[in-house]
Amino acid sequence: MADNDSGFRNDWATKDFYKVLGVAKDASAADIKKAYRKLARDNHPDSHPDDAAKHDRFKAVAEAYDVVGDADKRKKYDEFRTLQANGGFGAGMGGGGFGGGGFGSGGGGFNLDDLLRQQGGGGGGFGDLFGDMFGGGRTRQARPRKGADIESTATIGFTDALEGVTISLRLTSDAACPTCQGTGGKPGTKPHICPECEGAGYVVAGMGGAFSMNETCPSCGGRQLVYDQACPTCHGSGRGTSARTIQARIPAGVKDGQKIRLKGKGAPGESGGPAGDLFVTVKVGPHRIFGRKGDNLTLDVPVSFDEAALGAEVRIPTLGGSPVTLKIPPGTPTGRTFRVRGKGVTRKDGTRGDLLATVEVQVPATLDATAREAVEAYRAAMSGKPLRASLFEEAR
Ligand SMILES: [Zn+2]
Ligand SMILES: [Zn+2]
Repeated sequence: MADNDSGFRNDWATKDFYKVLGVAKDASAADIKKAYRKLARDNHPDSHPDDAAKHDRFKAVAEAYDVVGDADKRKKYDEFRTLQANGGFGAGMGGGGFGGGGFGSGGGGFNLDDLLRQQGGGGGGFGDLFGDMFGGGRTRQARPRKGADIESTATIGFTDALEGVTISLRLTSDAACPTCQGTGGKPGTKPHICPECEGAGYVVAGMGGAFSMNETCPSCGGRQLVYDQACPTCHGSGRGTSARTIQARIPAGVKDGQKIRLKGKGAPGESGGPAGDLFVTVKVGPHRIFGRKGDNLTLDVPVSFDEAALGAEVRIPTLGGSPVTLKIPPGTPTGRTFRVRGKGVTRKDGTRGDLLATVEVQVPATLDATAREAVEAYRAAMSGKPLRASLFEEAR
């Protein structure tokens, strides 16, 4: 026998759960529930954050109700207490009686942290919590679990990335099979208790002793029940896929390839647990003329040879603002970058990056007669200054 099983029996031997709840041993399920709800409410840690005694009391009350508030567990507990009282509790009671009953530490037992976490996770009001958690045998195995995180990608426009945008994302995720509602059985057929785990939903694996682990039962998948005929839609897995469309806010200033975390937009939690998160990898489409380097925007500005040589004032556009004038000094080489302050990407704090304008000297593809004459005159004027003489000197 595993240690945790004998430990649990010892626990039961010393704890009178009826007394904890202040009810008679033959109290009805409704009375037990009523007593429990009142005590849980009166001692809830949220109402008494610094009162350790009430915290302990809350825990004891919840633990008691976890057992006697559940018809199956209550029956086993009653049998155990009777056996104990009659002195009939012996070595023979190991595996069959209480070992496989579903109270192990990993499978579906009571866990105060889960209970409190569920409360914090927005799983519903106080009444919902206790109703759902301890409503009966059906939810015996259920413990709140955070939903899975989901990864997705989205492509947004260049300007949307700068200003922020709300997008619609279509997500598919695992959900209960709509045909069998997640039971895995053919609708209309009757389930029976899983023979492999005897209805516990998990099996004890490993070496036994302190290191034994509870694993989800491979036969029933933790659902405790099995069907002779599998659901034709999901072939017994109980899982289906559902699609949903959500609105996601992509914040201003997102960069291409950046991963945005949207808290609580992932898969829904199980048994009232919080939803997982959604991670969206954002691809930012290119702009026709502007580029981006961090918080700066870039722009290639064509200039003519005479503008570069003689100097000029050129008008250039900005993104989402009025044009600005760029002063090109005489003798500006092609590829020189000018910084226009404050015309870049708006940062979180409201300040803006810069616009980096890079001039590109353009060569006209054709020349009319007047221009050709002028260029030929320029060539004549420059003929005494060979451009490539230094290349041959340096090549030696
Ligand atoms: Zn099973
Ligand atoms: Zn199904």
